[in-house]
Amino acid sequence: MKAIDKKSAKIVSNGVLEHPIDTDLICEGALEVISKLHAAGYKAYIVGGGVRDLLLNLHPKDFDIATDATPENARAIFDHSRIIGRRFRIVHVYFDGGYTEVATFRAPSTASVNTQGRIIADNTYGSIEEDALRRDFTVNALFYDSENNQILDMVDGLRDVDAKILRVIGDPDLRFREDPVRMLRAVRLAVKLNFEIEESAKDAILRLGSLLSEVPSARLFDEMIKLFHGSFAQKTFQGLREFDLFRHMFPLTEQALEQESSTFNNLVNLALENTDDRIQSGKSVTPAFLYAVFLWGPMRNLSKQLELDGLSPQVAHDASVKDTILSQLPYTSIPKRFSFSMRDIWNLQHRFYNRRGKRVYQLFEHDRFRAAYDFLCLRSSAGEPVDELCEWWTVYQDVDEVTRKKMVRASQNRSSKHSKKKTYH
Ligand code: ATP
Ligand code: MG
Repeated sequence: MKAIDKKSAKIVSNGVLEHPIDTDLICEGALEVISKLHAAGYKAYIVGGGVRDLLLNLHPKDFDIATDATPENARAIFDHSRIIGRRFRIVHVYFDGGYTEVATFRAPSTASVNTQGRIIADNTYGSIEEDALRRDFTVNALFYDSENNQILDMVDGLRDVDAKILRVIGDPDLRFREDPVRMLRAVRLAVKLNFEIEESAKDAILRLGSLLSEVPSARLFDEMIKLFHGSFAQKTFQGLREFDLFRHMFPLTEQALEQESSTFNNLVNLALENTDDRIQSGKSVTPAFLYAVFLWGPMRNLSKQLELDGLSPQVAHDASVKDTILSQLPYTSIPKRFSFSMRDIWNLQHRFYNRRGKRVYQLFEHDRFRAAYDFLCLRSSAGEPVDELCEWWTVYQDVDEVTRKKMVRASQNRSSKHSKKKTYH
């Protein structure tokens, strides 16, 4: 086991690496939770992504704590805490301004595994060494001991932090079979950290992607949020496609991307770039928008096909919306509030054409106007023939009431001169 002395920022055993840690970045609340666990006679460490990110001088998202206290032991120490989770039972300990996750050391080997080797229940407690070994990557298995200012490294994770290598703990085939989500995590973390995935793991991912079909759709939904709302959406998307994993989460989207001209590819890339920008500048993002983008190509292709089969544009649209959402559900779940909102974004697209009197005001007042307008202008940037619409609605929002009325009147006059045939774009 190697240990780093935080103050001198050097490995105190036989290593040669140097890892300055900015301990000011560690959340006070988490340090207090550790102190209380210590005071009650337990071991407690910060572990996982928090330690990894500190070593890389990144702002950790969270500080998870690993301890030899059982969930019940921990629950008894903290008034503001509760036990959560079925697959893993962990304790959330609340403090001013947040909470931290406290997990008991777990052993890897006794977890029950199904016929494909996937872990289905995993609540066997173990030693700290065992807890390191059950983690996914070496750089995610470092323990920070705040009492002694040391980092405990049982898997040569420090070496890999330094070499910027994402290395699976143990045999990649076995570990990905145990939990296929680790393949998604590999791509996501490699992008986020700018690390290289070790060769044998790359090779395993390319062979084992289809195992993702066994992962419950609710878990893949959670993972999708981490993949695309983590401020590296565009690069992560490219990584997932390089490793041929994207198709196992979004098969309809993958098919449309492969068949389509460049517009749908552009739309997806622009939307992800936009998502990254929004997160960078602290603006809100919603999975509904991601879904609206990813499923737009498949939905539109189906709608066109149904129109060719003789359905009216409205009926074809409604049927395609329903069918596309249903087809996605076995892969990633779509909580109701997001599917409603996605439908709104789609349904409002054709209402942008109707710029007659009251319709304009009604659309402008719609709860989902802003998201639908953003979507419209993304389509325009992607090369769909909706430039004029995007421009009109951009100007409309910018001008005063009097000018708005003039704009509506002008487009009303124009549209009465043209055919009133209903079109869906
Ligand atoms: P992020 O920066 O995105 O939070 P993270 O590595 O901290 O990355 P978490 O999902 O917060 O990811 O997980 C915390 C820790 O739990 C990981 O660092 C890793 O040690 C362990 N872990 C998470 N998911 C798995 C998994 N599927 N298999 C094994 N260990 C895992
Ligand atoms: Mg984390």
